[in-house]
Amino acid sequence: MTEKMTEKDNGGMLHMKGISASPGVAIGRVFVLDRRNRRIFKTYIAEHEVESEVQRLRTAVQKAGEQIQAMLRSMPDELREHIAILETHQLMLKDSMILDKSIDMIQRKMVNAEWALDHSLNHVRRLFGHIQDTYIRERIHDVEDVVARIQDILSGTQGIPMEQHTNPVVVVAHDLSPADTIQLNRKNVLAFVTEMGSRTSHTAIIARSLGIPAVVAVAGVTKYVFTGEDIVVDGITGDIFIRPDEDIIAHYTDKQACYIQHRQAMLLQSHLPAVTADGFSVSVQANIELADELDVAIASGAEGVGLLRTEFLYVGRNDLPSEDELFQAYFECVKRMSPKPVTIRTLDVGGDKFLSSLPVSPQTNPALGLRAIRLCLKEIDLFFTQLRAIYRVSAFGKLRILFPLISGCSEIQQIKVHLNSVKEQLRAEGIPFDEDVKLGVMIEVPTAVMMADLLAKEVDFFSIGTNDLIQYSMAIDRVNEHVAHLYDPLHPGILRMIHRSAEAGRLQGIQVGMCGEMAGEPAYTPIMVGMGLDEISMNADSIPKVKHIIRRCNAGLCRELVNRLLTACTSQEAREILEDFLGRYLPDERQLTHPYLCDAARH
Ligand code: PEP
Ligand code: MG
Repeated sequence: MTEKMTEKDNGGMLHMKGISASPGVAIGRVFVLDRRNRRIFKTYIAEHEVESEVQRLRTAVQKAGEQIQAMLRSMPDELREHIAILETHQLMLKDSMILDKSIDMIQRKMVNAEWALDHSLNHVRRLFGHIQDTYIRERIHDVEDVVARIQDILSGTQGIPMEQHTNPVVVVAHDLSPADTIQLNRKNVLAFVTEMGSRTSHTAIIARSLGIPAVVAVAGVTKYVFTGEDIVVDGITGDIFIRPDEDIIAHYTDKQACYIQHRQAMLLQSHLPAVTADGFSVSVQANIELADELDVAIASGAEGVGLLRTEFLYVGRNDLPSEDELFQAYFECVKRMSPKPVTIRTLDVGGDKFLSSLPVSPQTNPALGLRAIRLCLKEIDLFFTQLRAIYRVSAFGKLRILFPLISGCSEIQQIKVHLNSVKEQLRAEGIPFDEDVKLGVMIEVPTAVMMADLLAKEVDFFSIGTNDLIQYSMAIDRVNEHVAHLYDPLHPGILRMIHRSAEAGRLQGIQVGMCGEMAGEPAYTPIMVGMGLDEISMNADSIPKVKHIIRRCNAGLCRELVNRLLTACTSQEAREILEDFLGRYLPDERQLTHPYLCDAARH
């Protein structure tokens, strides 16, 4: 989180920087929405008031439920995929950690309902604070949102007073909950700027689905801006300008027009194949973490699912999914993508994702511990259930299996023994399956790179996982913000590893792809092309942009770029070589490629 000011808050222009959460450019007036001023006072109640206080809380909870129900009914079509957020809020209203705990507090400590709620919320906050998985940890904001709604009802305060604004505004807030975001009159909102949040927060996800520019994690912004002041928001780079001067307004007016034009052109062409000017073709596919992302992926022009992170079928529950459940989920995915291929990755938990259904004893370094394929090879039933489900689905559509965290040939040999057993079982049971399902390994451990020539003889495809490859080869914990600035896909050592893996695959005649975050950064697309990758898989949002860049590339020139990059001594040198290439050959695509270059540590 950075806060940069070019001028003091003296009425002049103020430049601040946050994290770009949803792309686009907005120029308009500010509306400051600061709900932190909600003051919760502690009041003691008399014994005879306890029952009515409990009832007051129950009535507020019921009203909150009715409000959420009304929001669900009036949900605009574009937001239908986010219905689950509001449904979760409804469930939370019934959660014993909030409601029962608060009632207990009122009864035992004889305090007012608002205070009791606050106390329960703090308890839940502490519990969430220990969760390692960022996505789940951030769901605390949903709990906070539900509690805020009940407290508003208890105190008679209204929700967001946005409807009074007839002209569109840029909403600047300490934090915006997903429900706030849905509630805001979207015609009236030009952009969001918040002090809190991250790219994975629901608010950011909703802003992206609505196509509203958003910048999050702008430290202290609500202190520096007032409602009614002018602001420029660059959701592409994360820059904001409060009280912008004429030059800035002129610059961003151009940038905005250019962005809109680009976006329209890209979306129109997102279903065209990604083929370079000189005929090199790349299959651009989607990374899927939740089943409901499939529609967006298809609409964005995905040519398949290059990485189905199956963990979503296991998290948030106390038991393990059955073979039939997995079969159904994979079948749905394969059917909806058909005839495009789906690459199903076997379970990758144990690094920064943990299952309550499969407790493992605490490990000092979980990222280096019993994670991914290591866990599956230890818990054979867990592995077999997945493999059986995957093979059963193979009879109905095009799928491939991808194995994570492979460090050498012995794991793939062990895997094959298990695969043969699974096939034999299925044959004996008369269950049809595709005998020739393609097998692939993630290249994300340095020894896999060193062994790539031999691994390539064992499997049908490679998928380079740069997120972990960078973590394991540069010794940088990918979830540790203190070393995040060192995390750099342009480190010459990383570029050489990608090159070495791609060459090993090419020499053996197998498909080589990439599914780490690096694959979805348009600035790096010429590198992917130059490395000769057959397919790249990324979040759906990046697909139209990356396809667009590929169509503007010349594969011959990209290969020259890679040759130059392989001579670089430092990341800085590599960055300069890439910048030079982009400036020379893709000057019109600057707004797509530039931000990523400026912010290599953003991943
Ligand atoms: C990777 O490591 O690059 C990858 C795609 O896998 P994950 O991010 O799920 O670990
Ligand atoms: Mg990985």
